[in-house]
Order: sequence, then structure tokens, then C-alpha cells
Amino acid sequence: MIVIMKVNASSEAIDRVQQEIEKLSYEHHLIEGATRTVIGVLGNKPLRGKQHLQSLPEVADVMEVSSPYKLASREWKQADTIVKVGSASIGGDRVSVIAGPCSIESYEQTKTVGEVVKAAGGNLLRGGAFKPRTSPYSFQGLGEEGLKIINQVGKEVGLPTVVEVTDTEVMDVCVEYTDMLQIGTRNMQNYTLLKEAARTMKPILLKRGMSATINETLLAAEYILNEGNDQVVLCERGIRTFVDHTRNTLDVSAIPAFNRLSHLPVIVDPSHAAGKRHKVLPLALAGVAAGAHGVMVEVHPNPEQALSDGPQQLVPEDFKDLVDRIRIVAQAVGRELD
Ligand code: PEP
Ligand code: MN
Repeated sequence: MIVIMKVNASSEAIDRVQQEIEKLSYEHHLIEGATRTVIGVLGNKPLRGKQHLQSLPEVADVMEVSSPYKLASREWKQADTIVKVGSASIGGDRVSVIAGPCSIESYEQTKTVGEVVKAAGGNLLRGGAFKPRTSPYSFQGLGEEGLKIINQVGKEVGLPTVVEVTDTEVMDVCVEYTDMLQIGTRNMQNYTLLKEAARTMKPILLKRGMSATINETLLAAEYILNEGNDQVVLCERGIRTFVDHTRNTLDVSAIPAFNRLSHLPVIVDPSHAAGKRHKVLPLALAGVAAGAHGVMVEVHPNPEQALSDGPQQLVPEDFKDLVDRIRIVAQAVGRELD
């Protein structure tokens, strides 16, 4: 449940209500708004003490949070969460652009793409160092060497970086070299990995599982928030459906759903949804039009030679065009490119 304090309640009043909550053996989280403070109450004895808390003079109201996820819900926190990644901020009225190669293949390749992303107005540099490939015979990533490359390029071009952490074994090294940790679609329900990533207190890009519902995705986010890390960005990257004209189906309708149910920012990844370059631009624009707080796309200087996901990676020219068009659509829906 959430305890809504009266407008402009003093800090003493807030302290007193928190003490009452502790007497009931609940945990509490403070959510400070511009004029009103809300105290989130967590515990597994639903609603015990509700009437008592409601009767306190400093309290305006006590409400139940009806969804299974609590900390991730809009009921719990109304204002949009802004996620800070180095110099970049994701969420609110901005649209952020995250771009980079599918896999980090070499310093030269990553540097070329990094410069393109920066020059076009991108906000974050992405790249995979540990690749979750369907086949064990496919390129598995450069590992730690790849992390060192993206770290160096990020610093040289002035962009924070995001890299997927595929396993708890590589957590420490990912934390050392990157600004944001990505949890991939295949690991969305790997709860051990989610908790360990959360505890690093790095911002987290959580990709929706390719067969996960909205509810399951927000419960996965809840695992991270429940560790005390509220810096979570959700990512719609396409789901498995019966159609065979596309790799995955970008679930555009998930974006307004996430925005309504949760305060967390949500971005789209049209590259992994489409699997084909020509669909990336229209799907990216559709995502922004539907309310996405950002777009993540793959860019490669020479996609024919790419070691992974060649057919979906954009060439630098197309990426520049994409950013220009995202800017126009963002304005049309009352947002601005960061
Ligand atoms: C990626 O972004 O590099 C990736 C592997 O994506 P996904 O987990 O969505 O397949
Ligand atoms: Mn990829």
C-alpha cells in the first residue's frame, strides 16, 4: 500500500509516520514529489494497519497498490523516472538514441561507429562483448577485450556505454568497463542475474523476454527495484508470434501499456525485432510515435562483413537519416530528442 502525506507535510511529520509504519513491521520507501510526499509500504501482510495509518493527522490517504509489481507501478510513483547514465538521461519528455554495433569486433570498427553515433546526435554507445548466440558455432564476442575497446571509444568520442551482461561470472568485468548493464531477452527471467546486476547499482537496460507478457516484464523489473536500484529502462525488442515475414514482431502496443502501468522509461529496439535493415526506420518511428523514450539500433560500418546480425545493422548514412526523422516524430508527439 502507499501512504499519501498531506501537501507540504513537514519532515518531522514524515518521520513520525515512518515510525508508525516500522511499528507495524513493514518496510518503507520515501517518494518525494514537488509538493507531496508519498511513503510506499512493503510487507507480506496486505493492509494490516491501514486504518491506523489512515487515522494519523499528517496522512491524507492510504491506498492499496493493486498490481502484483509494486515499486515498478505508476500507482506507487506517478512521476516518470529519469534514468541517468553518465552524461545522458533517459525518460520524461526526452527521446534518447542508443546505437552501436551488434558485436564489438575491433577498435577500428567500434571507433568508426562511435564517431558516427556521436556526430549524428546519439546519446549512448552500445556494443556486445559477450554474445548470446543461438548457435554455439557462431561468433561469441571478444569478451573482456571487447569491453576495453568500447570503454576506450566511449571516452574518446564522449558517449556513455551499454553492454549486455550475460552471466553473473562476467558481472565484475562488465561493471568495471561500462556505464549501463543490459539484460538480454533470453535472461529477462534469470532472477539471480537480475538481483546481482541490481546490486551493482549501475543503471540497467532490461529487455523484454521474447515470450514475456507485460506483467512478467514488470515483475522482472520489480526484482531490480526491490534491491534498491530504481535506475531501470525497459526495452521492447519484439516478441515471438506466428508470422514469418519478420524475425520478431515489435509489439508497439506494449509501449503505451508500459507507460500507463509503470513510471519506468521504455525504449524500442527495432533492429532485433525486424532482423532486416529496411524495417528498422519505420519501426523506430512507430515506437517513438507510440510514446517510447528512446530507440536502440545497431550500426556497422560494413554490415556485409559483420560477425553477427549483419542483415539488420544500419550503415552510417542510414543512421544519420534515422536520427533526423526521429527528431521530427518526437516533436510531433510532444517530445524532444535529447
Ligand atoms: C542485443 O541487444 O545485443 C541483443 C542480443 O538483443 P536481444 O537480447 O534483444 O536479442
Ligand atoms: Mn544484435
